[in-house]
Amino acid sequence: MLTIAVTDGTIRPWEDDEAKHIFWHSSAHLMAEALEALYPGVKFGVGPAVETGFYYDVDLGENQITESDLKKIEDKMIELARTKETFERTEVSKADALKYFKEKGDPYKVELIQDLEDGTITFYKNGCFTDLCRGPHVKHVDDIKAVKLTAIAGAYWKGDQNRQQLTRIYGVTFPKKSMLDEYLVMLEEAKKRDHRKLGKEMELFTFSQRVGLGLPLWLPRGAVMRNVLENFLRKKQTEMGYLPVVTPHIGSKDLYVTSGHYAKYGKDSFQPIHTPQEGEEYMLKPMNCPHHCEIFRSSPRSYRDLPLRFAEFGTVYRYEQSGELHGLTRVRGFTQDDAHLFCRPDQLKEEFCKVIDLILYVFKTLKMTEFSAQISLRHQTDHSKYIGSEENWEKAESAIIEAAASKNLPTVVEYDEAAFYGPKLDFMVKDAIGRKWQLGTIQVDYNLPERFQLEYIDADGSKQRPVMIHRAPFGSIERFTAVVLEHTAGHLPIWLSPDQVKVLPVSEKYADYAEKVCELLKNSEIRASIDARNETLGKRIREISLLRVPVLVIVGEKEAAEGTVSVRMNGTDQGSKTVDEFIAFFRSIVAEELS
Ligand SMILES: [Zn+2]
Ligand SMILES: [Zn+2]
Repeated sequence: MLTIAVTDGTIRPWEDDEAKHIFWHSSAHLMAEALEALYPGVKFGVGPAVETGFYYDVDLGENQITESDLKKIEDKMIELARTKETFERTEVSKADALKYFKEKGDPYKVELIQDLEDGTITFYKNGCFTDLCRGPHVKHVDDIKAVKLTAIAGAYWKGDQNRQQLTRIYGVTFPKKSMLDEYLVMLEEAKKRDHRKLGKEMELFTFSQRVGLGLPLWLPRGAVMRNVLENFLRKKQTEMGYLPVVTPHIGSKDLYVTSGHYAKYGKDSFQPIHTPQEGEEYMLKPMNCPHHCEIFRSSPRSYRDLPLRFAEFGTVYRYEQSGELHGLTRVRGFTQDDAHLFCRPDQLKEEFCKVIDLILYVFKTLKMTEFSAQISLRHQTDHSKYIGSEENWEKAESAIIEAAASKNLPTVVEYDEAAFYGPKLDFMVKDAIGRKWQLGTIQVDYNLPERFQLEYIDADGSKQRPVMIHRAPFGSIERFTAVVLEHTAGHLPIWLSPDQVKVLPVSEKYADYAEKVCELLKNSEIRASIDARNETLGKRIREISLLRVPVLVIVGEKEAAEGTVSVRMNGTDQGSKTVDEFIAFFRSIVAEELS
């Protein structure tokens, strides 16, 4: 097993996310050392590890660098790593830390230190480079065997547009050369699967500057796919006793003051909309939960009514900085496949199990076979920051743990990761090229029922507070679509394809027969369309391949005479079938996909 020795004395397996984080953070320091050697006088902002790799924000002064300089920096990093330097930790006072960076002439580090609370500060030194840092680091810099600097971007100091623009250099490193090679192959593959590229080729969605940043426009084919996804979940949810609700896209500011969201996020979200006359204030809906709480409150509830499961494909709006926006994965308006389950404490575990079943059903149908789950619990000893009774928390935490165990989920338990209002379970899915995506969240909440004073009448006539579960198997339709596209490289399962069948007459002569076949398919609820353009069959097939239509039905003289069709599915010839045979064949494939 590949392991990494860490300055805190631990030896950690590379597979551990924390080990990778330390490794990449150390690599940021190594890159800083290389930059200082190559560009004397360079000043440093922050250099954290990211999900895969690291970056450092630097002020290069007069020296501007371009992609062509990256190789030189990579070479320097490897050269420095080979000197077998180590990371040395020292403790300094705040005054000494300030003095060091003032003398060095690094205003960004000075500002960072000034923002720190008084007390001991740690420095880490590798080679000639000393950084303000909490650590820990890899023990031996020589563990870094392979380096690839991947991108350069601009980044404002502290993310503030009014401050200095720094140069952000992204990179990734590995303890083995072969691992970097594999990673680069994966990156190439990821480029081909980029959902933004596929979205364009498959004519699913677009963006318009005039509409606004981060606000996707779903094209007809995309909208069909979206409807299919929604109906897929809706059907299952109806079977599972969910009740549909619909709520508006805005809500009064008071609603979010009551829920606590305004105090927590108000400053960083879209600002209130003011009515022209009455002086009312409305917020764009950042989440659906408060609306659903009010639906719970709309009528007296008895213990016999519970659980109540309110489901809505609710569109919400959240402000994201323009630099953070990315295709469908980071947007400013998106639709959650949301539901809120209101239950009695004794129903929590069973409800939780059912939600897990639903999420696993979604994953299975979408062929997302590799996944893991993280259970986020309270801090092990310090419970001061959590709301809700000790008894309820214990019940909820053990309910989640037992539910996950009873479903044989591969789980990790993380302490101190729960929200202040309840524990949760998150699913991470590994896609076809090994990337991990967070999908599917189940969250227990004691806070909103309290804030909205939700009650039900218990068997003994007493008023009780329900427990609330938030859950979204897809997360959002937008994000889920992106993940499905990247996972399948656009080769969607047939049930989900916006165009399931394309009917192609070999020449215009057979257009009438093709039209007839297409009608029969449509009457059988198959999403079929015809391409009878006066182009060669080869050319039409090439163009359709960009749309990734899974099934082609080709008709010519023989087929027209015999009342048959010639079927090609995902590039494989399926032979000649009568139209009825084809419909039966098609249905059996879709049924199998959905089974
Ligand atoms: Zn550091
Ligand atoms: Zn919610």
